[in-house]
Amino acid sequence: MSGPSPSGPGTDVPQTGAGDVTVTGVIFRGLRGRCPRCGRGALFDGYLRIVDRCSACGLGFGGHDVGDGAIVFVIFVLGFAVVGAALAVELAYQPPLWLHAALWGPAVLGGALLLLRPAKGVTVALQYRFRSTEEPPRPGGI
Ligand SMILES: [Zn+2]
Repeated sequence: MSGPSPSGPGTDVPQTGAGDVTVTGVIFRGLRGRCPRCGRGALFDGYLRIVDRCSACGLGFGGHDVGDGAIVFVIFVLGFAVVGAALAVELAYQPPLWLHAALWGPAVLGGALLLLRPAKGVTVALQYRFRSTEEPPRPGGI
């Protein structure tokens, strides 16, 4: 005996738990900006805003608050790369300071804009994988 047929988002997508998706799988889904559970629905509405619910499987993202995690990751990666590159250029060519500013300012800005979205996607995906999205937000948003 079966109940009424389900309707709405997620009816054609198998409902899996967070533990059913491999860590590598959720990382790639996060990098692509896709839902960490089904890999089909978009994770972002705009550049960095997380959607309320996956359009394909209905997974809610209301319990996710990644805070500054992705930003800190991007700062560390860009800081290491840009400072290393600046030091290497300085040691090899000794360019004037204005050229350093002209090179590394746009490099930091462009790198941040390029890396922030995939980093946030991976952060949300890993949070989904290792912490249930069904649990309500904790007091204080932690
Ligand atoms: Zn989904």
